[in-house]
Amino acid sequence: MSKTGNITFTIIKPGAVSNEHIGDILQKVTNAGFWIAAMKYIKLSNKQAEEFYRVHSERPFYNDLVKFMTSGPIVVAVLEKDNAVDDYRKLIGATDPSKAEEGTIRKLFAESIERNAVHGSDSNDNAIIESNFFFSRSERFTKDGDFLTFSPCGC
Ligand code: GDP
Repeated sequence: MSKTGNITFTIIKPGAVSNEHIGDILQKVTNAGFWIAAMKYIKLSNKQAEEFYRVHSERPFYNDLVKFMTSGPIVVAVLEKDNAVDDYRKLIGATDPSKAEEGTIRKLFAESIERNAVHGSDSNDNAIIESNFFFSRSERFTKDGDFLTFSPCGC
């Protein structure tokens, strides 16, 4: 049996992992009402990081970003909640932590605009694409133990 969910995709980036903030960040995520539908502790290859951030390939910070994102382990996760994408962007705060609101994950745990603790999808379509990049259908679960299917693609 499977159920559809309103999801976003997140990464706890290498700086936040090496500074031992995995637990603090996941606590804030679950306290904010997100269900962790899928999660892995992995290290990205160059190829994976280049592909994941391909949309930024013309930006001046692209090579440094790929180098940073492959510098150590990361946590990747699919989060489920009503209005997941927008609510998670609010919870993590602005890309540049110096502009992030008090209490947001980036304000609390980011070191710089590049080493900004977490990734959060910027649209429902990207949430599905990014989640499918890292997780198969048999690796995502609803709170009551069913397999989680993504809406609207049904994948
Ligand atoms: P996000 O959606 O808030 O993560 O921001 P973007 O999609 O615009 O950028 C992707 C990632 O690239 C950010 O999370 C940062 O890690 C990094 N980044 C964005 N802008 C800059 C920048 O001006 N300089 C550097 N060094 N990194 C940046």
